[in-house]
Amino acid sequence: MGDVVVVGSLNVDLHLLLQRHILPGETLLAGGGTFSPGGKGANQACAAALAGADTVMAGAIGDDAASSVATTRLEDAGVDLSHVQQVAGPTGLAVVSVDAEGENTVVVVPGANAEVTPTMVEGWADVIAAASVVVLQGEISAESNLAAARLATGRLVVNLAPVIEVDPSVLLGADPLVVNEHEGAAALVQLGGAELTEPREIVAGLRAAGVATVVMTVGSAGSLVAEGESVTEVPSPKVRAVDTVGAGDAFCGALSARLAAGDALLDAAAYASRFAAYTVQYEGAQASYPAVGTELPQV
Ligand code: ADP
Repeated sequence: MGDVVVVGSLNVDLHLLLQRHILPGETLLAGGGTFSPGGKGANQACAAALAGADTVMAGAIGDDAASSVATTRLEDAGVDLSHVQQVAGPTGLAVVSVDAEGENTVVVVPGANAEVTPTMVEGWADVIAAASVVVLQGEISAESNLAAARLATGRLVVNLAPVIEVDPSVLLGADPLVVNEHEGAAALVQLGGAELTEPREIVAGLRAAGVATVVMTVGSAGSLVAEGESVTEVPSPKVRAVDTVGAGDAFCGALSARLAAGDALLDAAAYASRFAAYTVQYEGAQASYPAVGTELPQV
């Protein structure tokens, strides 16, 4: 049984390096193309395991060749994959095209992630109910997220990324809700709040709407942690950023691992900042995550 159970998506990312983005009807030669494991759920499970938690991944992969790419790094990190179900059809795929200016476009094919139904989630009731921390995100359906939230008896970490319209009980059950500025603003509107843009106001609004605790990641500035009446800035170490893909997921996974280990929320956020800051120094999502025992940058 895991300390941390991540219920969510597994993808394969195809990174294409282009001189410029493609136009309709064109054929272009790419400067490079690599397959790597991704998907927010899988990234977070990978980070949680590398941050020291006994971690279970619950989700779905297809029956194609890509399915093994989606799980190799999780296997290396020691994530329990016994609740990753194989379904007929393709594994989730994200095609990321980056042009010479570094501008990217992303096309996501949900594939097997769209086959994660509330009934499938209910089949995972044993591990979800036994977990100290259950982690959810927006790459499986709102109905499946609700089913997982209902089964959780431990702490629920909800990362509303990408933004989907979830049942209010999922947001109100989050402790913490982990969002960036844009996701936090959208979550507040879903809870009937005002349309705000200022991070501190959004965080305060979410608390006033009834969310137990909120962690808002703010890139190189680190995060804002709201609990009780206080909103605390938790800085991130200064590093040379090369690629921030998967940094938010690294933060969320590491935070969940430290919460499962019994850290206070502020301490867990400080550790998650150091873990995520490490990852932005290297290319890729899971490929950039630090092995167990790696020295992390200091604030
Ligand atoms: P998202 O990609 O989900 O919007 P952020 O960009 O806020 O997430 O990054 C998540 C976390 O990664 C931040 O809270 C911070 O700890 C770390 N991080 C991101 N970019 C940098 C950076 N340039 N320098 C240091 N840490 C960073």
